[in-house]
Amino acid sequence: MLLVKDAEAIIFNLLQPLDQKQDIEVVDLLNGHNRILANPVISRLDFPHWDNSAMDGFAVRYGDVKEARAENPIILEVVEEIPAGYQPKITIQPGQAARIFTGAVMPAGADTVVMQERTRWEENRVFILAAPQFQEFVRHQGDFYQGGNELLPSGTRLTATEIAVLGAVQCNKLSVFRRLRVAIFSTGDELVTPEQSLQPGQIVDSNQLALAALVRELGGEPLMLGIVKDDPKALGEIIQYAIAHADLVLSSGGVSVGDYDYIDGILASLGAEIHFRAVQMRPGKPLTFATFPNVLYFGLPGNPVSALVSFWRFVQPTIKRLSGITEGYKPMWMKVRSRSELKSNGKLETYICGKLHLIDGVYEFHQAGGNHSSGNLINLTQTNALAILPVGTTLVSPQQEVLILALRY
Ligand code: AMP
Ligand code: MG
Repeated sequence: MLLVKDAEAIIFNLLQPLDQKQDIEVVDLLNGHNRILANPVISRLDFPHWDNSAMDGFAVRYGDVKEARAENPIILEVVEEIPAGYQPKITIQPGQAARIFTGAVMPAGADTVVMQERTRWEENRVFILAAPQFQEFVRHQGDFYQGGNELLPSGTRLTATEIAVLGAVQCNKLSVFRRLRVAIFSTGDELVTPEQSLQPGQIVDSNQLALAALVRELGGEPLMLGIVKDDPKALGEIIQYAIAHADLVLSSGGVSVGDYDYIDGILASLGAEIHFRAVQMRPGKPLTFATFPNVLYFGLPGNPVSALVSFWRFVQPTIKRLSGITEGYKPMWMKVRSRSELKSNGKLETYICGKLHLIDGVYEFHQAGGNHSSGNLINLTQTNALAILPVGTTLVSPQQEVLILALRY
């Protein structure tokens, strides 16, 4: 059976991100939050925009004050006061200084700022009590960024910090990739919606809700296609609809080897290329990955824990990459100490739901408290990380290190 890493390699090799020419929208700065840049950003503005002071103090000519000492202060004439936002009018001549405040524009003639703590002043005279360094406390125009250069590369996900930077250089309109369209449906005669009254033998379709929420968290646009009966005709119709309307299709259920598991056969009959049907992992062994021209298809297992573990392991990086993210789309691994005893049969790569706790500044993995059956979705409420036991490992004892997949990004 296919190893997890080989399944991942097959998927990653087939990922074609959205088209940089066709799939672009222009949005305002704030609406760019969590979107992905489709073009590099280049501003015409330098940052800082002007030479300015990093301190409250006095703008001086270094040559005037380089010998200053507390016992032998240099006395300068203060010719102007420059608060932030004010444009200086006077060129500083030898023997002169300007009162200046943090962020205010440096006056012509001055090259250095003496912080006010190293001065004493009265009326229009300042006593410089210590020699500064040349150009000390001056932030020069373009020190942090020079206009005309690439500021952010295409493929950057815009968080609060990037929004601030883009605002600072007045990039108010942003070219971002459109949201990835992800069709989602659930299969099974036993499924009902949360609103429908529950009859004996039925079960609520929780997978569709979870998958839609996960797609949204990743910046995608879920297209919820509902519940489909275990009926080849209905399944064929919904799959055709999904591939015509989405970039990525997620179904859950119907991919095992039971009598009612039709998905793989229907995909094949519709001309999909099926890359694999199972992966050597638990939970999540039945997993179908197929491609149509321009559309990827994941047939996730029906069990809620299996469906989500498969999503986190394979679909989450896929959505990030297809959406246009170029760096950091791959799973986020960490090595942490396990608080719990973790067990596996050693035959399948085993994913264990649990939570990262910060204990004295160090992350620890705590296994979720309930039964670890793949049908126990209640355990998901305690999960923000998955511990992974590779094939061949049957036990991780408390206090031992374990590899984990962090689920928040
Ligand atoms: P299947 O993969 O179709 O054989 O389903 C495996 C198990 O997962 C069965 O117990 C199903 O009732 C359950 N299941 C399937 N689909 C869903 C769903 N959408 N939401 C919650 N449970 C499901
Ligand atoms: Mg089923």
